[in-house]
Amino acid sequence: MRVAVVGGGAVGVTVAHDLAAGGADVRLYERDEELGDDRTRPRDRIEGSSHRAAGVLAPRPTDGVGAEIASRALDRFEWLSDRDHRFSVHPTPQVTLVDAEAGGKQAALREQTDAAREHGVDVACHEPEAIADRFPELDLGGVGLTAVTERAAYATPGPGAYVAAMADRARDAGVDCWTGVETSVSHRGDGPRVDGERFDAVVVAAGGWTKRVLAPTGIQLPLKPYRVQALVSGADYDGPMVLDTEAGVYFRPHPAGLLAGDGTVPEECDPDGWEPGGDDWFVDGALDAVANRTGHDAGADAAWAGIATATPDGEPLLGEVESGLHVATGWQGHGFLRAPATGEVLAAQVLGERDPIEAYAPGRFEGVPEFAVEEGMSL
Ligand SMILES: Cc1cc2nc3c(=O)[nH]c(=O)nc-3n(C[C@H](O)[C@H](O)[C@H](O)COP(=O)(O)OP(=O)(O)OC[C@H]3O[C@@H](n4cnc5c(N)ncnc54)[C@H](O)[C@@H]3O)c2cc1C
Repeated sequence: MRVAVVGGGAVGVTVAHDLAAGGADVRLYERDEELGDDRTRPRDRIEGSSHRAAGVLAPRPTDGVGAEIASRALDRFEWLSDRDHRFSVHPTPQVTLVDAEAGGKQAALREQTDAAREHGVDVACHEPEAIADRFPELDLGGVGLTAVTERAAYATPGPGAYVAAMADRARDAGVDCWTGVETSVSHRGDGPRVDGERFDAVVVAAGGWTKRVLAPTGIQLPLKPYRVQALVSGADYDGPMVLDTEAGVYFRPHPAGLLAGDGTVPEECDPDGWEPGGDDWFVDGALDAVANRTGHDAGADAAWAGIATATPDGEPLLGEVESGLHVATGWQGHGFLRAPATGEVLAAQVLGERDPIEAYAPGRFEGVPEFAVEEGMSL
């Protein structure tokens, strides 16, 4: 079976590797010159989201499919971290904080936590006093409820290292990697083509650029790219990963000190014309939140934006859109932490070894519904 994978981010390299390991003859197309790198912050001119991600691996799925994906992804990250010296995952719990005045958010956190626990996720709600001794790095003033996700981690040196390590494994498995090549996909009824060349199957894992790659096919996807942001600060922080829902900011330890993020701009952006630098309002707000919670009053050494992808129901678009033509996108800001599992699932579907996940089927909507971009980190 000849398969083309378009897009060499975390999802694309995983699908390509797993397809080749499953016996397919695979070609991977990536428009960037490199597949991954070992940097702790993104290169200026690189657009792929996997290079710009925060590397937070803190899933809190609330259904069975999400729990299966999250658990499998962490297993595979850990497996790779044990075997590839360039990429590591650092097990670190994540603490979610909800304000004492935010009754609705507290109820939502309890509901989400209960649902996650039902599906085997190791997460529990606690009064702030109950975790104060465990996390002395955090000032919990004004917090009314917390949730601690025990099985969580972050990736070092950065998420690009996963891409690089997985790309090497893909090459070893026989994947023919074409970098520096910007492609488009067509479908003339006899099967999918990449730049006119016919393949038995094509997987488009082009993140926020998926609609543009598919444009010649006329296929419409309910997908909106939007900007999210991150920064690195010299603040010397070695505590848990934190999601401060009142501030709308998360932060975690980082080789240079601390990484903070979110900065969601909840509107569709043009994937070919977006601002790659961090906005002042995001930098100021994130540093304020970090100072409030940790006492660290440091500036930002670097701040950047990148593209996340929204769908009408917040679930991915993962599966076949036309005979032999598959997509994998719509991660709502959580595509990196799920990539080892979503890539695996899609490879198995393409090889005919697994049924599609109905909840993620790209054709599950009536036409292309109008919808608003919802930020992935909200409660
Ligand atoms: C600031 C920020 C922080 C984030 N933090 C996290 C986090 O902590 N945890 C998490 O799980 N997720 C996070 N995300 C989201 C995460 O980055 C994405 O969901 C994930 O990386 C998507 O991976 P992907 O492989 O689908 O897409 P991408 O990594 O975007 O890969 C798509 C690739 O397709 C290539 N491409 C595009 N067009 C073409 C073409 N025509 N021909 C060939 N190649 C093409 C691109 O160059 C790109 O490399 C964050 C995102 C940002 C921007």
